[in-house]
Amino acid sequence: MAGPQALPNILEITPYKGGQKLDNAHKLSSNENPLGCSPKAQAAVSKAAKHLELYPDGSAMALREAIGAKYGIDADRIVCGSGSDEIFQLLARAYLRPGDNIVQSQHGFLVYRLVAQQSGAETRSAPEQNLTADVDAMLALVDENTKIVFLANPNNPTGSYIPYSEVKRLHDGLPENVLLVLDGAYAEYVKLNDYDSGMALAGEAPNVLVTRTFSKIHGLAALRLGWAYGPESVIDAIHRTRGPFNVNAVAQAAGIAAIHDDAFQAASVAHNDAELARVSAAIEKLGFEVFPSVGNFVLIRFPETPGRTSAEADAFLRQHGIVIRNVAVYGLPDCLRASIGTVEQNNDMLAAFEAFAKS
Ligand SMILES: *Cc1c(COP(=O)(O)O)cnc(C)c1O
Repeated sequence: MAGPQALPNILEITPYKGGQKLDNAHKLSSNENPLGCSPKAQAAVSKAAKHLELYPDGSAMALREAIGAKYGIDADRIVCGSGSDEIFQLLARAYLRPGDNIVQSQHGFLVYRLVAQQSGAETRSAPEQNLTADVDAMLALVDENTKIVFLANPNNPTGSYIPYSEVKRLHDGLPENVLLVLDGAYAEYVKLNDYDSGMALAGEAPNVLVTRTFSKIHGLAALRLGWAYGPESVIDAIHRTRGPFNVNAVAQAAGIAAIHDDAFQAASVAHNDAELARVSAAIEKLGFEVFPSVGNFVLIRFPETPGRTSAEADAFLRQHGIVIRNVAVYGLPDCLRASIGTVEQNNDMLAAFEAFAKS
C-alpha cells in the first residue's frame, strides 16, 4: 500500500534552491551584504543569546515600534515574519485557494509562484519590456479570480524598477478587492527621484501592502526577519495565519539594533553605489551585456556562441573561486546574476571575468 500522499499541488512544487556556496570561493550568489551586519546588531545577538530559555514576544512589539518610529508609520499596522518569504506564505494561506490566481511580472521573484502553488492557486506572469515590469501587461492578466498582484520593486533578478507613477497606475487599475504587494527588499538601495517604495500608499489604500526585509541592507539574512505594513484588515489576516511565535527573540533583538544603526545602512548604500557602478562598467568593458541595476546585484547576458555561453561562464568562474547565480529558473537561461561583494571579492570576480573573456 502507498504511504501518505501529499496534495497534488504540493507535489508539483519545484523546491526553492538558494544561492550556492563552495568552499574557498567567494559567494556572490544570494545578494547578501558584503559589509556583514551592524556591530550593534551583533552585540544585541550576544546579549539575547543569554536567555534562550525564554519564549519571544509573539507580537514583536518592541521591534514593530522601532520600525514604526524609523519610518513614521503606525506600529499596529506592521507585522513581522521569519523573513519576508514567510509573509508571502502567510498571504497565500490567508487569501488564496484553488481556482484563484496571482499576477506577477515575467521575471518576478520565484517565491511568489511557490506560495501560490502551496495554496493550489495559478500564477500568471505578464511579459516584460526590456526586462522591466509592464503595468498594462500586468493589468491585462487580472480577472475576477485574481486575489494578489506581486511586484518586486526593484525586481530580483533583473535589477530593474518602475517609477512610482507606474506603481500608482498599477494600483489605480486594480479593483479594491485585489491586494497589491509591493516587495521592497532592495528599496533602501534606490536613491532616484522617481522611485518610491509605496509606504504612503500602503498607509492610505485599503489594498496595498509593503514588505521589507532585514536580509539585504541590514545583513541579517541568517536570522530570517522581514515585515509588512498595510491596511488593518490585511495585517489582521496575517496575524491570524502566522504561528504564535513566528519571529525568534534573537532576530527581534538584532532587528531593533539594526534599524537604529543609520551609519551602517549609509555605509552599505555608499559601498553599493560605488561598487555597483565600478563592477557594471568593468564587466561591460570586457564585452558582456550588463543590464542597468538599482539593486545590490547585476544581471549579465551571455551569447549562444559555444565557449561563450552562460553555462560555460558559470563553470569557468567556479573554477576560479567565484560563485554567482544561475537564473535559468527565472526564464533567463542565457544570464547570470552577480551580487556586489567586497572590493576584494569584486576584484577577484572581475579578474575571473577577464580571464574568461580571453579564454
Ligand atoms: C532577497 C529577497 C527577499 C527577502 O527575502 P527574506 O525572506 O526576507 O530573506 C524578498 N524579495 C525579493 C525580491 C528578494 O530578492
